[in-house]
Amino acid sequence: MSTKKITFIGAGNMAGAIFKGLLANGYPSDAITATAPDADHLQALKQSLNIHVTTDNLAAVADAEVIVLAVKPQVMQGVCREIASSVCRTRPLIISVAAGLQAETLNAWLGGEHAIIRCMPNTPSLVGAGASGLYALPSVQPEQRDFANQLLSGVGLAEWVDQESLLDVVTAISGSGPAYFFMIFEAMEKAAVEMGMPADAARRLILQTGLGAVRMAQETGEEPAQLKRNVMSPKGTTERAIHTFEAEGMDAMFLKAMQACADRADELA
Ligand code: NAD
Repeated sequence: MSTKKITFIGAGNMAGAIFKGLLANGYPSDAITATAPDADHLQALKQSLNIHVTTDNLAAVADAEVIVLAVKPQVMQGVCREIASSVCRTRPLIISVAAGLQAETLNAWLGGEHAIIRCMPNTPSLVGAGASGLYALPSVQPEQRDFANQLLSGVGLAEWVDQESLLDVVTAISGSGPAYFFMIFEAMEKAAVEMGMPADAARRLILQTGLGAVRMAQETGEEPAQLKRNVMSPKGTTERAIHTFEAEGMDAMFLKAMQACADRADELA
């Protein structure tokens, strides 16, 4: 990966996951700067990771080639206005991980037409197993796109979409998706306990089953529908469970929930 001076505005969960991913992949710590209002938090980061830190956003972007906007959406406008004059001169690549905020809105706040990549990461990025959706404005150069791809690949999968509106669908799949899986784990554990299994043993079996199912799907490359059929012998136990899920309308329920999620993402934009 090429080395560029990269500044993270905001040094919280998402920024931390990404710069830790960079460092784990051998990116030089002195090419990374992180900003936040909390000086104690920054000092702790400096001590543990040896990256540059500052509470001064404007100073931090002065010579940055890449800026990752990683503050909460509600403080984004203030941050963009604060750095606008600087980025209008230096024209860095801007990567926003903020949910909902459109590239056009960011450009308006930054006072010009900038090379912007929007990214929708998810919380498993914190353990290096994230799934991020990325969208680049047409003005983004191929080498900037490659850089962003490598940046997000450092914390998991990076998947590009060619329309910004599809980031709402990404939100419905992977942005919010970890919660769907946690809900399934929770429901299976409750059912197992109801059926007499100790909760801790049930949880271990459930998590390992989830991991095993994902690994089988990834490593065999088989269609999920085929993998499902492989477990279902005619008139067997799995078939009985699957038919129960189907009778309860599982597909329709997922469509409804994911559409509601994407609609909410659109409302927030
Ligand atoms: P966080 O609260 O952990 O981090 C926000 C950081 O911004 C903190 O370090 C805070 O001190 C800093 N900050 C606040 N005001 C600032 C300012 N004026 N200048 C510089 N820094 C400032 O939040 P997070 O979970 O890391 O979320 C950050 C962004 O990532 C959000 O826009 C969110 O939509 C997006 N995101 C998060 C997730 C997630 O799962 N955590 C998923 C997708 C997208």
